[in-house]
Amino acid sequence: MIQVDFSKLSPQVVWRHFETLCTIPRPSKHEQQLRQHLKDWAEQRNLETYVDEIGNLIIRKAATASKEQVAGVILQGHLDMVTQANRGTQHDFFKDPIQPVLKDGWLIAENTTLGADNGIGVALALAVLESDDIVHGPIEVLLTIDEEAGMSGARLLESGVLTGQWLFNIDTEEWGELYLGCAGSIDIEVQQPTQYQTAPSDLIYVDLLVSGLKGGHSGVDIHLDRGNANVILANFLNDYLSQSNGRLVEFVGGTARNAIPREAVATIAIKAEQLPELENAVAVI
Ligand SMILES: [Zn+2]
Repeated sequence: MIQVDFSKLSPQVVWRHFETLCTIPRPSKHEQQLRQHLKDWAEQRNLETYVDEIGNLIIRKAATASKEQVAGVILQGHLDMVTQANRGTQHDFFKDPIQPVLKDGWLIAENTTLGADNGIGVALALAVLESDDIVHGPIEVLLTIDEEAGMSGARLLESGVLTGQWLFNIDTEEWGELYLGCAGSIDIEVQQPTQYQTAPSDLIYVDLLVSGLKGGHSGVDIHLDRGNANVILANFLNDYLSQSNGRLVEFVGGTARNAIPREAVATIAIKAEQLPELENAVAVI
């Protein structure tokens, strides 16, 4: 039983869809029930639907008369939601409806995630599909699966099924912001053959630590030009070791692939009499 009177929320056409989404369980990788519901909903309205190989749902709405030549627009959101319940809350995300409440002018769920990510995006897209007073070119609504747990829907989207030219992602978090691009990520594994040697007995070992940097998310903060401990330390070592004939013993830096490294540490081996020179070199970084 949903407590909120959605008929009092505006715009009605959006909230009605959101109310329906609250009643249909949709954990990541278990979107089939919602997908089927939306597919049926669209077909009842004579909208063309297509489910691709991985399970993304595409709903197409033809252009309004005389707008057939306009570049097509794709509205993209995701079907699944993050499923988290407060400790002590009994909630079966595979069966139970979300229980939203209105609090201080906000729709929230008190003991579980609400699923506004990306339920409100899906509701907005459905509202566009349903509208009969918007003049538009061809519209495709792309609702992907598994956004919150691996993005397999987006990654394995069947190629060639979309015809629109402009894709609007409606899963953003900043009010009033329109995104024109987005950071992607790629894992690069570099291996270099290394020759180890027994450390000469006349060397001393020095730890060099770069720390105290701000760090940040590599997707969100990368344009802020923040220091990267790995880069700073590697640049220093590159110069210093080649001039001093010092040896690199170990280098460790960074903790996560999507975090700008805040700390890096290297152990080097040099002659004892080189220590003052090293200290000078470090002091001018
Ligand atoms: Zn999302």
